[in-house]
Amino acid sequence: MIKANNPELRSWIDVPDDSDFPIQNIPFGIMKPKNEEPRPATRIGDMVIDLSVLCDFGFFDDLGISDMSVFYATVLNDFIALGKTYWSAVRERLSELFNIDNDDLQGLEEAKKLVLFHVDEVEMMMPVHVGDYTDFYSSIEHATNVGKMFRDPDNALLPNWKHIPVAYHGRSSSIVVSGAQIHRPKGQTMPADAKNPVFGPSRLLDFELEVAFITGSKTNLGESVPVNKAEDSIFGLVLFNDLSARDIQKWEYIPLGPFLSKNFGSVISPWIVTLEALEPFRTKGPKQDPPVLPYLKSTGKKNFDINLEVFIKPAKGEETRVTRSNFKYLYWNMAQQLAHHTVNGCNINPGDMCASGTISGATPDSYGSMLELTWRGEKPIKLNDGSERKFIQDNDTVIFRGYAENEDVRIGFGECVVKILPATN
Ligand code: MN
Repeated sequence: MIKANNPELRSWIDVPDDSDFPIQNIPFGIMKPKNEEPRPATRIGDMVIDLSVLCDFGFFDDLGISDMSVFYATVLNDFIALGKTYWSAVRERLSELFNIDNDDLQGLEEAKKLVLFHVDEVEMMMPVHVGDYTDFYSSIEHATNVGKMFRDPDNALLPNWKHIPVAYHGRSSSIVVSGAQIHRPKGQTMPADAKNPVFGPSRLLDFELEVAFITGSKTNLGESVPVNKAEDSIFGLVLFNDLSARDIQKWEYIPLGPFLSKNFGSVISPWIVTLEALEPFRTKGPKQDPPVLPYLKSTGKKNFDINLEVFIKPAKGEETRVTRSNFKYLYWNMAQQLAHHTVNGCNINPGDMCASGTISGATPDSYGSMLELTWRGEKPIKLNDGSERKFIQDNDTVIFRGYAENEDVRIGFGECVVKILPATN
């Protein structure tokens, strides 16, 4: 077992019972204290831990890292570029340092004041500079539901879907971190029965419940990442809200796929949870039938059992949970996605982001978008305050939460939050 994953470990930092961040998690992010520069951090319980100060104190000195500037950078790309051996070594060192049996830092009151920040004292920033972003379409339930609504109920799944992890290249500039406020997008739509398109604010604004992986290695143009080595090139995961304007999408997506309906803003959770921390939650994916081509054949448990939830909070009122899904439902796993992405020689860089596509379960209460949950608006959802939603309204806040849990430990992502503001004039 990975040492830092031992469920017996306890930290000298207090960890509330239902916390997503026990000492077994040790995620990575970028935090910014007020009036100071952003820098790398991890989190235990409600405390954010400044890795630059730990580096000042020499706690990373003997890990064989030649360039210590990675602990002072404003994004994690260079840290990620060190490779799996070093992510793992730093995670293990943090696990040791914050262990209740370790006194290296625990007893130093003055040093602790420099290292530890309460979550309320810092702002969480984009953890990486996203060089490239790809959005897959890997949930068979989602692809089937959308196919039924947008195309043909009898042939919902296109003939390529079970052979290719379908994806499109998205826009990285508009990926922002949790806490963002995004204006309702404007664009062209074609109303039913109209002869010509109209321009205006989208009327069918939606979330897409997704998880994204962040690539951890660099490959050269012409190289491919083999499916059963692909996980070594994955640093970790974040929750991903791929906001989507369904009316704009419907009119624009043929023949080249989504464009302005998706690139006005996507939101991620701030803490990158490492694949290593998620090891205990490996599980088998759905059976792939027909069999996939050899370059996509993955062995072992390549899916992860991660509970995913979406809540909507109206401007005035409490939040309501609108769906509960799970990352393990995905038909295509991350290793297959990355192997497919690179099989033609497409190169990757540390900090690239690959989102899963909307993750829907088999039952109507586990669908990963309003489009599916309300079936195009035909079955509105009732919120706790009595109001109804077919899609997202202005001033609604959409909150994603995700966590993996067994009898021993809970490893979570925290929240991915976005507030929708009215369209600009
Ligand atoms: Mn998507």
